[in-house]
Amino acid sequence: MHSAVTSPAPDWLVVPDDANDLVPAVWPASVARTSEGELSIGGIAAGALVREYGTPLQVLDEGEVRRRAAATRSAFDAAAEEHGTTARVYYAGKALLNTTIVRWVMDEGLNVDVCTGGELEVALAAGADAGRLGFHGNNKSTAELERAVEVGVGTIIIDSALEIERLAAIVSRTGTMQRVMLRVNSGVHAETHDFLATAHEDQKFGTPLDAAAALVARIREIEGLAFAGLHCHIGSQIFGVAGFRESAGRVLDLHEQLLAGGDVPQLNLGGGFGIAYTRADTPEAIETLAQGIVAAVAEGCAARGIRIPALSFEPGRAIVGNAGVTLYEVGTIKDVALENGSRRYMSVDGGMSDNARPALYGAQFSARLASREGAGEPVLVRVVGKHCESGDIVVDHEYLPDDVVPGDLLAVPATGAYCAPLSSNYNHVPRPPIVAVHDGASRVIVRGETIADLLGRDAGIER
Ligand SMILES: *Cc1c(COP(=O)(O)O)cnc(C)c1O
Repeated sequence: MHSAVTSPAPDWLVVPDDANDLVPAVWPASVARTSEGELSIGGIAAGALVREYGTPLQVLDEGEVRRRAAATRSAFDAAAEEHGTTARVYYAGKALLNTTIVRWVMDEGLNVDVCTGGELEVALAAGADAGRLGFHGNNKSTAELERAVEVGVGTIIIDSALEIERLAAIVSRTGTMQRVMLRVNSGVHAETHDFLATAHEDQKFGTPLDAAAALVARIREIEGLAFAGLHCHIGSQIFGVAGFRESAGRVLDLHEQLLAGGDVPQLNLGGGFGIAYTRADTPEAIETLAQGIVAAVAEGCAARGIRIPALSFEPGRAIVGNAGVTLYEVGTIKDVALENGSRRYMSVDGGMSDNARPALYGAQFSARLASREGAGEPVLVRVVGKHCESGDIVVDHEYLPDDVVPGDLLAVPATGAYCAPLSSNYNHVPRPPIVAVHDGASRVIVRGETIADLLGRDAGIER
């Protein structure tokens, strides 16, 4: 029945009974098919969105962002309360940052992390209370640090010995008291289902555990710096609690040692909670993760006979990833014969300029026909972009109905995180708008680029 079974599909991709099916974990909860079979998001049909805003189009479901922000916050609140502490959730702004999303997540009680002066300005432009911002980065400039201190950023996460001195000079000049944490590298690097634990991890972020006590001693000497605790972030798209447990254990050894020299009120264990991009991904509920991670910290503290600190977490992808859906129009279709079957290449009107993750990380995505339900048998498809690069892949492997034709709309789910922020103007393709949908209404939250925008920076054009 399925002619595609001889095709070069990866093992994880099963042939669906119906290539129009919607796997709940990858889509916003509002996604449904209309009575005509069209995909709708936030109560609006894909075709209506495209008629109003064009393609490619980045759609962001406001209700989904808010629901995930609120659920994450209450999951960590509940888990922390159970173990006699508190938990703060910071939205990692680098996943997707604009003033609207900052307002949504802050409304839902989250704090926000930024990692450059530019990200800081977006959060401030949104009217964010600077006291609820965390400032990260392994190379914050003096100007960036001065701005952060001046506006009253709640916590600066110090990454290196050099940064301590850079910040010390600023606070001694301004007479400010700045709350800081120290980012440590626990030697645990988690990715997806596995984690790697070494004595020394070979990467640029943070301070190795065995060098951190001396840096904390130095921070404590500086009058204008208030040491709040340790920070550790072990990676991204992590499933399960094992990596967090291993890392927390190592960081708690240092935390315990630091208690001899003064208070260590907090512990920040970073973000990285995994989401579903395809039907093969099965992330845990946020409640399960929160319970597991906080329990692991509580056990670690009990074993060392120390009080459990106030906890912080920094999810980015888990808040916005599944709230985003990108709509594209199919342009060309060709079947390419391979030794073990054939592959259908389906080109859409965007690509690596609006979603660099497949080219950058080999990331997997999924896709569905959005303009209607297809009637054909599932056929193995590779969705590609319009850029002059053979790695310009949007969805590496997917089964779509074999009657998809040029002019049809495709929807790619789970594009809410790390797509717009990593977008480019490669091949002078304008970046798409970001449109928020909610309860049948839509509005532009970041406008699309125009050709005039693209030409605007070219100093060789007479104006
Ligand atoms: C990127 C990052 C995060 C967020 O990671 P997600 O995988 O999006 O949850 C949190 N903390 C730090 C320090 C980061 O660099």
